[in-house]
Amino acid sequence: MPADLIDGVSIAREIRREVAEEAARLIERGTRPGLAVVLVGEDPASAVYVRSKGKACEEAGMHSVTIKLPAATSQAELLLYVERLNSDPLIHGILVQMPLPAPLEADSVIRAIDPRKDVDGFHPINVGKLLVGERDGFVPCTPAGIQQLLVRSGVEIAGAECVIVGRSNIVGKPMAALLIQDAVGANGTVTVCHRHTRDLGLHTRRADILIVAAGRAGLVTAEMIRPGAAVIDVGMNRIDDPTSPRGYRLVGDVDFETVQQVASKITPVPGGVGPMTIAMLMSNTVRAAAAFARAAE
Ligand code: ADP
Repeated sequence: MPADLIDGVSIAREIRREVAEEAARLIERGTRPGLAVVLVGEDPASAVYVRSKGKACEEAGMHSVTIKLPAATSQAELLLYVERLNSDPLIHGILVQMPLPAPLEADSVIRAIDPRKDVDGFHPINVGKLLVGERDGFVPCTPAGIQQLLVRSGVEIAGAECVIVGRSNIVGKPMAALLIQDAVGANGTVTVCHRHTRDLGLHTRRADILIVAAGRAGLVTAEMIRPGAAVIDVGMNRIDDPTSPRGYRLVGDVDFETVQQVASKITPVPGGVGPMTIAMLMSNTVRAAAAFARAAE
């Protein structure tokens, strides 16, 4: 029997509804959650992401600001915008869209964001809080979304062999930090694989939960899957497809058709992890706003 689909679109919709309810409660008490997104340069893919983030916030009744800066913006100017947003009382979440155009450098920008407004969860303070298990920090949106996909589709994480392919700061590393916590929706036994892993299949075949974020179309094939595993595909690769009107289509890192025959649950691409990222961004922004509201009481 082919694997059940983990439907990211409907789970994200459910979370967005919960977030909108929480936002409405905050608004009633006088705080409208506000998200500022900073976009530097003209990258079309980034522009699409930024637009959908703004739209999702507005749909949830939140305040949303997009700051578009030219590609020639200097590092100092960009830091000045971040400083302004740090002290803007209407803004509770700040996101600087990555990647930044060269020669801008991301680390100092991430560190300049007030950690209480760092809804992307990339500031070292929040990275540290995640690792030590302090719950008042922010977890990066993609791994937080994957945890929700697993929990809400009934995948038991406690005690499970969780194998993560990829060790980026955006997905792989925070995913590992999240799943090893002594917490609800965690307590996994975690293995992290990367480019230097000697035998990838040896590890993936042990996985009850396999999370793939390597950016390589077709990296994971059916013979690398333990029968009955839950498979989360974070990949978003464009491959040429002359039959598609756009000339390309999106595929994940997992060979969906064959892996679906072996796994018990699997995320599609698109429609799996992707929609969760924005839902978790909104959830983080509402949490940030709630924390500011509590601090002001
Ligand atoms: P993402 O943003 O999805 O995490 P990145 O491109 O930042 O993607 O990171 C890709 C990660 O995937 C790196 O940690 C790299 O080591 C890992 N990776 C790439 N190719 C392979 C491979 N063939 N086998 C195992 N890991 C790989």
